[in-house]
Amino acid sequence: VKNNGGKGERLFTAEMEAQIDARHALEADLRTAIERDEFDLHYQPLYDLSQQRVCGFEALLRWNHPTRGRVPPMEFIPLAEEVGLVVDIGRWVLRRACHDALHWPDNIKVAVNVSAIQFTDSDLPGDVAAALSAARLPANRLEVEITESVLMENLDEALPVLHALKQSGIRIAMDDFGTGYSSLSYLRRFPFDKIKIDKSFVNGIVEDREAFAIMRAIILLGDALGMRVTVEGVETAEQLALLQREACDEIQGYYISPPQPAADAPYLLALPQRE
Ligand code: C2E
Ligand code: CA
Ligand code: CA
Ligand code: CA
Repeated sequence: VKNNGGKGERLFTAEMEAQIDARHALEADLRTAIERDEFDLHYQPLYDLSQQRVCGFEALLRWNHPTRGRVPPMEFIPLAEEVGLVVDIGRWVLRRACHDALHWPDNIKVAVNVSAIQFTDSDLPGDVAAALSAARLPANRLEVEITESVLMENLDEALPVLHALKQSGIRIAMDDFGTGYSSLSYLRRFPFDKIKIDKSFVNGIVEDREAFAIMRAIILLGDALGMRVTVEGVETAEQLALLQREACDEIQGYYISPPQPAADAPYLLALPQRE
């Protein structure tokens, strides 16, 4: 902190204090959010390009704060991770997602995001098994999505957990693929069932040859390694048409549908087939 004559420093400190207070307030609210039933899961369809149908849903957490309204996950998940609340929240998400999936047809999967802390500070395979058995959902209906940062933080600890999860029969997807700096080395260290190519790679694939070449190469890489390939963030018919001609298995994005409340799943499953 620079001391430029007193006044600037006091202002700076006051601003920082206000930020810290706001954070503490949010943290206090987060601690009671589960018991007050303020969380909700929305579901976004995963669309199979060869079968031309919805083949699963990704569960996306929503927090309906009593006064702030809907707080986006990017605002509270990092905080929940820092203060350790993400373990309890993650358990709630797993249980709710497995329960919701039971209402869908057998061939529809549910994908759940898990954070790094769940790998290192809790018994994730145990929590997954408990959620599956409480809902009586077969393991092959569940997929967990893990970002590279999860692995990066502690690969030695994460690898045995990944193997235990895979052993239990669930599927494992690498999320936001391409955004970290060591994506490629992880593909050799662990047999992912799926890669989800980050939405930043979709930008420009229709207009720009280089953008398309990169997308195409990533798809081919995943395909060559025997993984299912999903492209996230597909927003237009042109992008869909282009990906349809590649070895891309699945797409997800606003063009098919934004995330919707669980009650809308039957409607989303009946989405018209697209050419
Ligand atoms: P993510 O796992 O990469 O999820 C995809 C995000 O992209 C979602 O944002 C989704 O609404 C958004 N999206 C979907 N289609 C499109 C599109 O066509 N264009 C654009 N621009 N965006 C699209 P959301 O729901 O705000 O979630 C943000 C992030 O929060 C997620 O990114 C995930 O990392 C995290 N998150 C969400 N739910 C959970 C959870 O239950 N547990 C944990 N640990 N993290 C979660
Ligand atoms: Ca995800
Ligand atoms: Ca993603
Ligand atoms: Ca494939």
